[in-house]
This record gives sequence, structure tokens and C-alpha cells, in this order.
Amino acid sequence: MPQISVIKGDITKVKVDAVVNAANTTLMGGGGVDGAIHRAAGPALYNACEKFHGCPTGEARITGGFNLPAKFIIHTPGPVWHGGDNGEDQLLANSYRNSLQLADQHLCRTVAFPSISTGVYAFPLQRAAKIAITTIKNFLPTANFVDQVTMVCFDDRTFAAYQSQLY
Ligand code: ADP
Repeated sequence: MPQISVIKGDITKVKVDAVVNAANTTLMGGGGVDGAIHRAAGPALYNACEKFHGCPTGEARITGGFNLPAKFIIHTPGPVWHGGDNGEDQLLANSYRNSLQLADQHLCRTVAFPSISTGVYAFPLQRAAKIAITTIKNFLPTANFVDQVTMVCFDDRTFAAYQSQLY
């Protein structure tokens, strides 16, 4: 049975096949979870990301995990919130779906996500949580390998928002 779970924690510490990074379109590192992943993975991640020459919002790219416990890191720039009438919902769903597809293509069974776009990018938290959980739920029956997806929430408010969307 495929499973979705929500935990509170630091995504750089999670031992899964792939962790997803809420990146920016340069893929060259930044603040928040992106900065934490780059610090924990080490400088070789920067060199691996340089080769992509950026990534459009909602698409995803994959690298090794370097010094992380995860085997792979999937980098996806989520949308910046501009009021909601600029395709933000669809772009956020694309980030989740494209990341899951890439994980599945790389034979990953376990995947962990941070709360994409709800930090500096200011996407409303409940709305983002609903899109995330719906997109993951819709994807799982189509997956060949992915069977366990974990939302790794950094604070109580984020944890509560994703938890409330599970049922
Ligand atoms: P974005 O630019 O996509 O909004 P942020 O990194 O600013 O990305 O924030 C996304 C979410 O990631 C926020 O909920 C933030 O608290 C969380 N976050 C920050 N560091 C970590 C971490 N080490 N593990 C998991 N989540 C994290």
C-alpha cells in the first residue's frame, strides 16, 4: 500500500532514496531549505547543479545526494506567490508531480519533500498543503517504484497544515 506521511524535522537528515529541494530557477543555492541542503550536501552539489544552467519554475532536475543520507536530490523551483492569478496553483502541482516522476524514473521507492514555496516564496500554507497532498495522492497509483512519500515540515504550523490535509 503506497503511503503518505507528515513528520516534523530537518530534511537534510532524512534517509530516503530522494529528497526534494525547494530550489530557485538558478539552481545555484539560496536561503531556507535550499541553503540547508547545499550546506549539508557539500560543495560538490554546487558543481553538479551548475551543469543544468538553471531550471524553469515547476520543472525538476536530479543530482546525487553527495554528503546527504539521501541517494538523490531532486531540485524544483516552486512558484513565487503573486496573488494566485498567475498560475501559481498549477505550477506548484507541477513541482510535486515532476519531482515524483523523476524519482520514479530513477527507481526511487522513498521520497521526502519540504513545504515547497511556503517560505520566502509566500504561497499560502493551507492552499499549498492541499495542492501538495492532492498531487501526491493522484500520482501514487501511477508510480512504478515510489511507494512512500514523506512531507518533512520544519515547524509546528507547517506540520499542522499538512497533517490536516491527510484525511
Ligand atoms: P521557498 O523559497 O520555496 O518558499 P523556503 O526554503 O523559504 O522555500 O521555505 C520552504 C519551507 O522549508 C518552509 O516551511 C521552511 O520553514 C522549510 N525549511 C527550511 N529549512 C528546512 C529544513 N532543513 N528541512 C525542512 N524544511 C525546511
